[in-house]
Amino acid sequence: MSVFVVVLDGPSAAGKSTTARAIAERLGLRYLDTGAFYRALALKVAQDGVRPDDADAVTEVAKRSAIDFSGSPSQAHVFLDGRDVSGEIRTPEVSEMASRVAAVPAVRRLMVEWQRAMAERGPLVGEGRDLGTIVFPDADVKIYLDADLETRAKRRCRELQARGIAVHLDDVREDLGRRDERDMNRPDSPLKAASDAIRVDSSGLDLEGQIAAVLEVVRRHPRCPASGAAG
Ligand code: C5P
Repeated sequence: MSVFVVVLDGPSAAGKSTTARAIAERLGLRYLDTGAFYRALALKVAQDGVRPDDADAVTEVAKRSAIDFSGSPSQAHVFLDGRDVSGEIRTPEVSEMASRVAAVPAVRRLMVEWQRAMAERGPLVGEGRDLGTIVFPDADVKIYLDADLETRAKRRCRELQARGIAVHLDDVREDLGRRDERDMNRPDSPLKAASDAIRVDSSGLDLEGQIAAVLEVVRRHPRCPASGAAG
């Protein structure tokens, strides 16, 4: 029988990572951040001086890359060619570049293959843009986590500032809007809720409220393991 899989899709800064990590931790599941795969590739594309709109060159970079993800919700690390790049990929420049390379269909095919392989390591909570629609269409629980743009921009702004990155709310709002627009309108695997996804709007919720709302949905599933039972 296939492993228990929970997926959270939604736009940038809707709270997917924090929520997915908390759920994985509380239920003893693995955690999969699929955005980290695209970010790691984006970092390499930038470092190699490849133009993100050169689909063939970007695909070439992807084919000679090894990207791996640790799977631990408390120690989520992404490795690019064996090097831990978890810190380096969290910049506004890499965010922008990631959404550009993610529009390349051949890149997405590779990513989907790598991401599906993560479910061979055990039950998981994954987050991204196309998990319920493309990567794990048979997932046990599908959540589409959303929040209005202003709420998301404020959250992302606080997050970046807390990490010492100087940003302005107006710029962050514009970046998020542009990235979501690109993610929702690309021809291949656009960001959208799967037809069988449960929508959760986190705009009026604080972090605990958001986690509780999603956890309640996941716990209702008959295959959901008891807290901390799976490894
Ligand atoms: O989730 P995160 O902001 O880290 O993702 C970075 C970018 O990677 C997104 O803007 C999106 O373009 C892309 N992405 C994607 N499909 C996924 C996860 C991320 O296209 N499953």
